[in-house]
Amino acid sequence: MFQATIFTLYPEMFPGPLGFSLSGDALSRGLWSLETFNIRDHGLGKHRAVDDTPAGGGPGMVIRADVLATSLDAGLPASDPRPRLLMSPRGQPLTQARVRELTAGAGVILVCGRFEGVDERAIEARGLEEISIGDYVLSGGEIAAMTLLDACVRLIPGVMGKLESGGEESFEQGLLEYPQYTRPREFEGRPIPPVLLSGDHAKIARWRRVRSEELTRQRRPDLLPGKPFGD
Ligand code: SAH
Repeated sequence: MFQATIFTLYPEMFPGPLGFSLSGDALSRGLWSLETFNIRDHGLGKHRAVDDTPAGGGPGMVIRADVLATSLDAGLPASDPRPRLLMSPRGQPLTQARVRELTAGAGVILVCGRFEGVDERAIEARGLEEISIGDYVLSGGEIAAMTLLDACVRLIPGVMGKLESGGEESFEQGLLEYPQYTRPREFEGRPIPPVLLSGDHAKIARWRRVRSEELTRQRRPDLLPGKPFGD
């Protein structure tokens, strides 16, 4: 079973959106599990302080290395085989390929930063791998962790039912998905492309492939192979 363990200052945010729809049903059916640890339980002093001012000056606060490391050590056996990921805009961008790889494993340990981030020494000493959900800055790692989990959970066998493989979706074949249509046959004067109603499955597959390639070329040429850098 895919097991997610989250280290956060806001455990009450979870499961949040993951408690609904596909991921929520799968959670109650026991297809995956979610456990949270509050980093503040290992905070210092009467106020359970977890952060302090940045060495060298500058704005904001940084999560202390000792507090985060103690929290991780208390929550996890050293032998835990799951990847330890720190949600971070400095990390490798998350991809569908990585999501597939993570889903095939035992689960994930996700650390959510807040403020200006976490002391570099905790990242090094606990072997955290930084992972980003995109080139923008959030105020905390929780929504990033939920994003990663949502992408993983829908790929767990049994979660999506018939759509199980998801093999035709955007990114799965290095292409964006073809356009989708459903009823009515005509909407505000716009018909469904006739080929989709032809019943000719080979023709439909070809049409979808062509539309996928066109869309990818227009919107995300960076996904196409052999595209020279900067072109
Ligand atoms: N000062 C940091 C940003 C801190 S944002 C910097 O410039 O790199 C606070 C926290 O939000 C981070 O520690 C991280 O856990 C989370 N976060 C922000 N943007 C993110 C992103 N794009 N992907 C994943 N996590 C992100």
